[in-house]
Amino acid sequence: MKHYEIEQLKMYIEEARIIAFFGGAGVSTESGLPDYRSKDGRYTQMEEQDLDPKKVMSRKYLTEHPKAFFNRPRRNQKEPIPNDAHRMLAEMEQSGKDVRVITQNVDGLHQKAGHRFVLELHGHHRTWYCMACGREYLPEEVKKDQDQIPRCPIDQGIVRPSVVLFGENPNKEVVQKSKETIRASDLMIIAGTSLSVNPARHYIQQFQGKRVVVINDEKIDTGNLDVDLYIEGKVGETLAKLETI
Ligand SMILES: [Zn+2]
Repeated sequence: MKHYEIEQLKMYIEEARIIAFFGGAGVSTESGLPDYRSKDGRYTQMEEQDLDPKKVMSRKYLTEHPKAFFNRPRRNQKEPIPNDAHRMLAEMEQSGKDVRVITQNVDGLHQKAGHRFVLELHGHHRTWYCMACGREYLPEEVKKDQDQIPRCPIDQGIVRPSVVLFGENPNKEVVQKSKETIRASDLMIIAGTSLSVNPARHYIQQFQGKRVVVINDEKIDTGNLDVDLYIEGKVGETLAKLETI
């Protein structure tokens, strides 16, 4: 990224009334969370183990093979912590800027950084729920059966994280609010997303405001949306630079 790009970004932010920050996996990679499609990405890793992510991360697989779903080998991962991207956005919000986050991530790192306005298109891990009766549970209170499948103590239904799997629709209210947020914003920052996950493209096309900024490691196709500023770089690194000018 170049110095004048950061200056321009700072000016856009200062001018904006409502900022919609549309973020993807690239917002969390600096917290040590792998993205999906790159060399070390989660999907790439699964494919190396001959697992099709669209299959094993699906509702169908969960209901038909719950034992395999909940016992898939996972890499040991440290508890991720918010990085400069989450921190800078939360600080902007705390200083009175209207910064509204719409994220495709399920890691809850924006909230951990203290951000209040966060819409999670693909759900989250903070609560789990019973697929039979809908009761909610905290992950740490979930009891597992002899097959290591989390079960509801009331009706033995499968208890699962509140994330959106393949074959499932995002929460209607979250979808609605996300679209409204993008329509209401005058600056949209698209960050750390390849926009390849459907229907990311559909959301950003709701934009009717003034400026569009893209922050991403590699060029992305924004369709017929005009981009005012394209910053090639890591999201946290880029946003942290705002403090230095
Ligand atoms: Zn239940």
